[in-house]
Amino acid sequence: MRIIVQKFGGTSVASPEARNCVIEKVKQAIKNGFIPVVVVSAMGRKGDNYATDTLICLARQACRNIAPRELDHIMYCGEIISAVVMTGFLQNAGIEAMMMTGGQAGVITDNNFMSARVIKVDPVKINRQLERGKVPVVCGFQGMTVDGEFTTLGRGGSDTTASLIGAALDAEIVEIYTDVEGIMTADPRIVENAKILDVISYSEVAQLAYQGAKVIHPRAVEIAAQKNIPLVIKSTFSDAPGTRIVDKGNEKSISDRVAMGVTHLANIAQIKVKVEPARTHKESSVIFRTLADESISIDLINVHPGHVMFTLAEDMADKALTKLQSLGYNAEVNHDCAKVSVVGGGICGVPGVMASLTEALSTYNIPIMQTVDSHTTISVLVKLSDVEDAVKALHQKFLLA
Ligand code: ADP
Ligand code: ASP
Ligand code: MG
Repeated sequence: MRIIVQKFGGTSVASPEARNCVIEKVKQAIKNGFIPVVVVSAMGRKGDNYATDTLICLARQACRNIAPRELDHIMYCGEIISAVVMTGFLQNAGIEAMMMTGGQAGVITDNNFMSARVIKVDPVKINRQLERGKVPVVCGFQGMTVDGEFTTLGRGGSDTTASLIGAALDAEIVEIYTDVEGIMTADPRIVENAKILDVISYSEVAQLAYQGAKVIHPRAVEIAAQKNIPLVIKSTFSDAPGTRIVDKGNEKSISDRVAMGVTHLANIAQIKVKVEPARTHKESSVIFRTLADESISIDLINVHPGHVMFTLAEDMADKALTKLQSLGYNAEVNHDCAKVSVVGGGICGVPGVMASLTEALSTYNIPIMQTVDSHTTISVLVKLSDVEDAVKALHQKFLLA
């Protein structure tokens, strides 16, 4: 069986016109000799009636601190509504389709509500539908515990569902349909002249996604990479070929470039702790252990004689600050920061990368608050108010020069 998994994101199922485009993609797959399995997200984006954010808002209006288990139930509704409507559209178009929840599709998870880890995927029910000639329309983002509790896989998790199902069914290809024509050198909402990448490696796109490019979820990339299943990111609304995500070893064309994208993560805060210079190392280990014990994860870290600096998620900043101050530390927080990253497999060991980065940001008078680099990524912390200019400046310097 030549299985193809076709995942359609929120904007791709948001209107009757969009759903008609989905039907064309499914028909095309069948015409090309594939057996499709459709995965859908909740319809629309923030503000739309049945979008995930709207449902979360509704629950939080009832109770600001409503428990994650209850939030998972209301979020479940978004994908169910979408799958029922999409199944109806497919049936109307003469395609035998049947909707399935994540649980029915065999996605078994732990009970870590809102961010569940997948234990296994048992595709027995999907296979039964395929044998009957039906197109399964699976609710993305959803899982179920062994004792029948509803879970979700974390925001943006429908991509993960697509890869999981693709891996479980030994799919020939997983297509991720969205509202852009592929993975681009930057978010086109910020950089107008961002370019589409024809091909990109699993590791490059995973880095881009981890550093904030929400066009695909990093877990979806990792799962596809484990089984070497080709992923293609495409637009629901055009016939453009999209971006192929493949194993780097098979692609000569992607081995030479230095940078392939600029991305950003917002909602970050920076904490600075002043310590006695001679005790810097001792104090830094106490500080990091304290944060770990509070389950607070930290990112960019600098330890210099006399101070310890790190970044963390904005919604953890007050908790961390209060804890450190209660232990007598002289700590202060810088709210409203963002991390901007240049990603590329060729960044490592290339002279002048840091020089180019600082030149680009100084042209726009953007102060750098912290930096960090790895073999594929170089990141800077800037104020949130500078983030769009920083992305534009670095894109201009690294991707268009
Ligand atoms: P879907 O609902 O289809 O999953 P998402 O909103 O999750 O769609 O992801 C698509 C969006 O990702 C695009 O509209 C685009 O603004 C954004 N995006 C961010 N970074 C990139 C990038 N590097 N390339 C393409 N799109 C990007
Ligand atoms: N509907 C979910 C979300 O908005 C999952 C997804 O769209 O991938 O996070
Ligand atoms: Mg998405």
